[in-house]
Amino acid sequence: MEIFGDFAFILAFVFGGIWGSFLNVCIYRIPVGQSIIYPPSRCPGCENPIVWYDNIPIVSWLYLKGKCRHCNINISPQYPIIEAISALLTIQVVMVFGFSWESLAIICLGYSFVVMMMIDFYHYILPDVITLPGIVIGVLLAWLPQVGEPIVGLYDSLIGVAVGGGGLWLFAWLFEKITGKVGMGFGDVKLLAMVGAWLGWQSLGFTIFFAALMGSVIGLSWIGILGRDRAKPIPFGPYLVLAAWSYIYIGDQVYDWYLSGIYSGF
Ligand SMILES: [Zn+2]
Repeated sequence: MEIFGDFAFILAFVFGGIWGSFLNVCIYRIPVGQSIIYPPSRCPGCENPIVWYDNIPIVSWLYLKGKCRHCNINISPQYPIIEAISALLTIQVVMVFGFSWESLAIICLGYSFVVMMMIDFYHYILPDVITLPGIVIGVLLAWLPQVGEPIVGLYDSLIGVAVGGGGLWLFAWLFEKITGKVGMGFGDVKLLAMVGAWLGWQSLGFTIFFAALMGSVIGLSWIGILGRDRAKPIPFGPYLVLAAWSYIYIGDQVYDWYLSGIYSGF
């Protein structure tokens, strides 16, 4: 049992690291409309193809001290960081949900979250090529006869799409009407519909509330302490993604705690 535990741990780490390498490709190529399958990775400096032993997640970057083997150009530490995040995220899911189809689905959701978070951070967009199929896949997972436990039931998922998409769309529309400013991109609306599809309508209150909370705290300190130009837009997608991810782990506890607080107040 002990040995299996360690083996599972290593397996999840390697699996996550390898997919993390692919997530890096998605983060760089999707916003510029390039194929994520072809051509294989090349050095951004000398355009030499990256051979497999220079492409081992995390390890190769450390071994080559963050430089290309051929032209010595610096390779961004973002590559190993994303690979590490992906590996740790995979371990986290396996530790909480075990080896199951449910885990595999949640891991895929996590990978798409990492890609969207980084793309929104750099480009202020949440690509339709991720959010729209994401909505469909979330509903399908809730609907398909399950091998294991579904993450949510079909009705919770469908109501999630309607409330996540419709509710936030209405909010964004009202915000724009009242303030005359564009506060939220419709990418956020589609992302929230995707969250509703995957995690059910119950997840939406938590997700919006915690995203707004994190966004205000981090956004304001970014402007106040680090002197970020306040005219520059602050992407909301990363906060939505982090809040939705937290909901998977602590959503129920937070709702219980909140409700018990309300009941004890009477
Ligand atoms: Zn090079």
